[in-house]
Order: sequence, then structure tokens, then C-alpha cells
Amino acid sequence: MARKKIIAGNWKMNMTPSQAVELVNTLKDLVVNPDVDVVYCVPAIDIVPVVEAVKGSNVAVGAENFYIEDKGAYTGEISAPMLLDAGVKYVIIGHSERRDYFKEDDALLNKKVLKAFASGLTPILCCGESLELRERNAYKDWINLQIKADLEGVTADQVKTMVIAYEPIWAIGTGKTATADQAQEVCAMIRHTIAEMYDEATAEAVRIQYGGSMNAGNAAELLSKPDIDGGLIGGAALKPDFGKIVNYNK
Ligand code: PEP
Repeated sequence: MARKKIIAGNWKMNMTPSQAVELVNTLKDLVVNPDVDVVYCVPAIDIVPVVEAVKGSNVAVGAENFYIEDKGAYTGEISAPMLLDAGVKYVIIGHSERRDYFKEDDALLNKKVLKAFASGLTPILCCGESLELRERNAYKDWINLQIKADLEGVTADQVKTMVIAYEPIWAIGTGKTATADQAQEVCAMIRHTIAEMYDEATAEAVRIQYGGSMNAGNAAELLSKPDIDGGLIGGAALKPDFGKIVNYNK
């Protein structure tokens, strides 16, 4: 069965609650495409107003992060039950900014993936290499290690429902996109790794996004590749151009 494309915005630390609602309203009629699942991953403080603002539309809401405990003395953190109660469906796990600035390692990210599944959230698990790793041709081993560590203990049935985002760090926020062939190569490799870890049916079902300076100009070519099932979009998710990415096939 063909995999449905999934285009998710990663708003990062942008948009106050009132700006967030304004953006949702601006995008409302632009992000309708029956061939595509659309997700807005928004800052924690924007979740409640954004869930309200997308009500009745085709857009699902995601969080950018969460913590592995349900409640307690974890000042500043937000839990899976809190997200679910607010209407969140997806959660980004292991974005390179969290790995780098907040020192989240694969051991913690694996716990987050397991916790997301146990709670009923769909993980968007990010992986990707630095420029240094790409230049010394070590990127494939690196990404495979990330995938294997982050998915330890996750079942095939769970993997079939999740999203993996391949995001080369050198392409995030830099305006430098991986070529469609470079992105396809890695997304195909990730699918192959999933087939080895699980089975062909699981590899065929899991949706793999590309992320890294995807925009209205390059989305169609990237999304035409057989193993690229969508995009995780940073900068361009904050503009009306996001609607053009969602409608890449029109
Ligand atoms: C991201 O941070 O997930 C991302 C892909 O950002 P950008 O599109 O701005 O490169």
C-alpha cells in the first residue's frame, strides 16, 4: 500500500500564543491536500490555543519535546499525559538541536520513544549527521547507530505507525538543502535498516521524512523520490509558503 505523505512544521522557539493563532488562521485554507497529513509541531505554550484554532480542520498538532515521567518534581518539563489531554497527537524526539544544545543522548531518546508509544503519542524521531561526518563519509554508520539505539525495544507494530525524519545537520536552517538524490540515498538506507531490524512489511509501512531547508521551490523534487514520504519543515513552516509545500503535487 502506498504510504501517505506527511508534512510537519517544526516551529521551534518561534510564535507567541497570539502569533501562533494568527499563523494557523493565515494557513487554514492553504494547507488542505487530501493526499497529505499535515502536522504543526509547536512550542508548549502554543499547544492549547493551536489545538483550538485547528479544530475542525485537517491539521494535527504535535509537541517539540516532552519528558519521560508522567508527573512530579521535574521543574520546567511537560509530560505525555499533559500533551494528550491538550489534544496533541505527535511529538518530535531527538531533533539535532535537542541532541546538541540540551545534550539529549540516545539512551534518553530511546526512553522517550518507548514512553511516547506507551502513552499513545506518535513519535517523529529525528536522525542525521554533521558536516564533518558527511565529509569523511561516516554518515551512514552514524545514522544506523542512531536508529538502532533509539528504537531498542520498540516493536514492529509500533514502528509501522511512527515517523522517522532524516535531517542532515548541515542542511538545517542553513539554506543548504541536501540534493534529492542525497536525501533519497539516506531515506532508502534507513528503510533498509528497518527491514533488517524488523521485516519488509515494517520497512514498507514506516514513513520517512526529509528535513533541512525544504521550501516551496525544492519540495516537489524531494517528495518525488520513492523513499521520501514527507518533510519536517523549520523556517518555511512559519510562512504562507508552507501551503505550497503541502500542495507540492498540485
Ligand atoms: C528543522 O529544524 O527541523 C528544519 C528542517 O529546519 P529548516 O527547515 O529551517 O532547515
